[in-house]
Amino acid sequence: MKVNPAYQTKQQLLDLYNKPLLELVFEAATIHRQFHDPREVQMSSLLSIKTGGCSEDCGYCPQAARYNTDVEAHKLMTVESVIEQAKNAKANGSSRLCMGAAWREVRDNKDFDNVVEMVQEVNNLGMEVCCTLGMMNENQALRLKNAGLFAYNHNLDSSPEFYGDVISTREYEDRLNTIENARKAGISVCSGGIIGMGEAVEDRIGLLMSYMKMETPPESIPINALVAVEGTPLEDQKPIEQWEMIRMVATTRILFPEAIVRLSAGRTKMNMEGQALCFMAGAGSIFAGDKLLTTPNPEFNEDKEMFDILGLVPKEPFKDGVQPVSMPDAQIEARKRKEEEREAELKLARENAIQEGFEPRKVTSVESL
Ligand code: SF4
Repeated sequence: MKVNPAYQTKQQLLDLYNKPLLELVFEAATIHRQFHDPREVQMSSLLSIKTGGCSEDCGYCPQAARYNTDVEAHKLMTVESVIEQAKNAKANGSSRLCMGAAWREVRDNKDFDNVVEMVQEVNNLGMEVCCTLGMMNENQALRLKNAGLFAYNHNLDSSPEFYGDVISTREYEDRLNTIENARKAGISVCSGGIIGMGEAVEDRIGLLMSYMKMETPPESIPINALVAVEGTPLEDQKPIEQWEMIRMVATTRILFPEAIVRLSAGRTKMNMEGQALCFMAGAGSIFAGDKLLTTPNPEFNEDKEMFDILGLVPKEPFKDGVQPVSMPDAQIEARKRKEEEREAELKLARENAIQEGFEPRKVTSVESL
């Protein structure tokens, strides 16, 4: 049951969201137990592989180049450092790594080749690999899929009606297209939203209705609370009450019984009791590690303590799907072949030059260059 047939109209959904809180949690917990092991919560890590300097204008995002925030931009991490971070995350109990790049869209260049390699390497570590790289076309989705990508994250953020109040540089439709491209490539979809941006409850319901209309709704639905960052247009938004997060998690759980509902950004503003109610109401994943891309998140140790107190256990990878097989990437192979040929040509040219009596200059230290 991908979508719960008991709820179809906007009014039914609103009534559900506004139910007395404990009744809502009870209904969600009952459904959660039918489809999931309630003790298992997946620990996922989110790694910003390319930070800041984004050309988009998402009003909540400190990585947009046009806003004056404290985020330090850095270019794409190397494949080696991503592998190191992935190993650390795995050693700390994470079974999924989500790699985020602050791009408007994927471009077919060397950076994307490197991301493809990162996906291959992290998949080979036995972790679920998720990427969030902005918009992408079908061909790019296919390359990621063949590299071993398990999931692609692309959030709809809010309802179609409210979306334009927060983002103007790309349309809701663009987001739907990217989700469709991931779907066509056979990649599982992770897509959710942010609450606390000034939207009405109707907009939260509108977001969920967008997923209900899809032929196949997302397998993974992250629910975020806005982390208002100084310098962004939403900097003055008051933090939402944790009860709203609980309501949103519970409503999502009831509507999409099979999906993994992810309790994502904004946990630092919740206490353990609030988070416990979210787990009770069907949250099946948290992001672990002290940073969520660029915003604060509870430390690994705090989460471990919370798991012990609540009797939760970290979920193993690939319980919701088979591990993809990483295949060699044709474009990376072609590039490597070209680099090898170029290297061989240079070597031959050097050898020929030496035979003809040319003495290469000896470099003894970096200073002498
Ligand atoms: S949310 Fe993503 S696309 Fe939007 S500004 Fe931030 S990095 Fe760019």
